[in-house]
Amino acid sequence: MTQVNFSRPDYDVIVVGARPAGAATALNLARGGARVLVIDRAPPGLDTLSTHALMRAGVTLLDRWGVLPRLIAAGTPVVRRTVFDYGDQQVDVAIKPAGSVAGLYAPRRTVLDTTLANAAAEAGAELRYGERLELTLKDPSGRVRGVMTRDNAGHTRRITADLVIGADGRNSTVASLVGAEPYATEDHMSATVFGYFDAPASDAYRWIYRPGTSAGIIPTNDGQVCAFVSVAASRYRDALANDPHAAMRRYFAETAPDMEAVIAAGPSDKLRRFPGAPGFMRQSFGPGWALVGDAGYFKDPATAHGITDALRDADSLARAILSGAPGALAAWQATRDALSRDLFAITDRIAAHDWTPDELKMLHQNLHAVMKAEQAHVAQTETALAA
Ligand SMILES: Cc1cc2nc3c(=O)[nH]c(=O)nc-3n(C[C@H](O)[C@H](O)[C@H](O)COP(=O)(O)OP(=O)(O)OC[C@H]3O[C@@H](n4cnc5c(N)ncnc54)[C@H](O)[C@@H]3O)c2cc1C
Repeated sequence: MTQVNFSRPDYDVIVVGARPAGAATALNLARGGARVLVIDRAPPGLDTLSTHALMRAGVTLLDRWGVLPRLIAAGTPVVRRTVFDYGDQQVDVAIKPAGSVAGLYAPRRTVLDTTLANAAAEAGAELRYGERLELTLKDPSGRVRGVMTRDNAGHTRRITADLVIGADGRNSTVASLVGAEPYATEDHMSATVFGYFDAPASDAYRWIYRPGTSAGIIPTNDGQVCAFVSVAASRYRDALANDPHAAMRRYFAETAPDMEAVIAAGPSDKLRRFPGAPGFMRQSFGPGWALVGDAGYFKDPATAHGITDALRDADSLARAILSGAPGALAAWQATRDALSRDLFAITDRIAAHDWTPDELKMLHQNLHAVMKAEQAHVAQTETALAA
């Protein structure tokens, strides 16, 4: 077996996963002068199973990093309103411009993830696609010192680093290899079907709620909307799985007649199906390792907040690492949890899909307060990392 030299690591940081959490962490670490390797088992530019409405904190960070102008240049339309449709009431909320940021955005993941990864590479991070993490390398004390990877041609490599970051999604291999334990879980899950439909231009996120079902219309690139319908995961088979397009047609015909023809014309590509997955918060740092994004904290998509949180936590994780301060990672996780706990609980309630309209309106008011606190946190972090 080849001897691994732990005393002179190949990189300061290895990041596993090159999507929002991993690419954003690598971007900020590389701009801070760290030697960073990012690996991803997937090829670049691949879509993923997720809608992609971004919230204010996420958009603010993308702007701060200089990524937002590229997303806009790629044809991502601005969202200036959010419309909540409760059946008995419609609430139309204007998104106020903030500085140079005109509103919210929902770039296709093919656009967002690729743009972030390219920015990380331009900042000096090395990116390798088609290479999967297989094992973590540990020293005799159990501290993680690097990784063993396998590329698509079957070649294995041992690569050492001071820190290995799992940004490898909710089924994180890094989390299982280091034994990262969950300490909070959600009780409810929702199931979602979604797809892309050619539609007239719109400047609004539309969230539509009826007893037991929620839906949304999200303007995105290429003159399309991402439209979805969600129910409690326990109802997935009966309500959605059999004929998702028929279910979507019925639902939008009843709740949003202006969208009936758009949905009836059919998606430009296959409909995507997400049967649900349980949310969790897990221990996200230890000797020589950390977890960011869904790898450390996954919640039901019911509040469309996973990417925003992944960007928020990537930003603060990079700061914590670059500070080199003792206890910085523990403080980072504590801040993540303080900012996330209420959102996690609200998401869990919304995912249950058993609310009354009045309870749902109250949950949305609470969500608004949580998002304001999150935005305030992001706004007060200094911009020193942005080059
Ligand atoms: C149906 C659905 C709808 C959603 N809608 C929204 C929304 O509207 N707005 C929002 O903000 N969020 C939404 N989310 C959540 C969002 O998708 C996630 O929070 C986000 O993708 C997390 O990003 P990440 O970088 O942590 O992980 P991921 O996007 O999961 O990326 C992980 C990467 O790690 C790589 N990887 C995994 N294992 C390995 C390995 N062993 N070796 C190498 N590479 C590996 C994968 O190839 C992948 O590229 C939704 C989620 C779902 C399921």
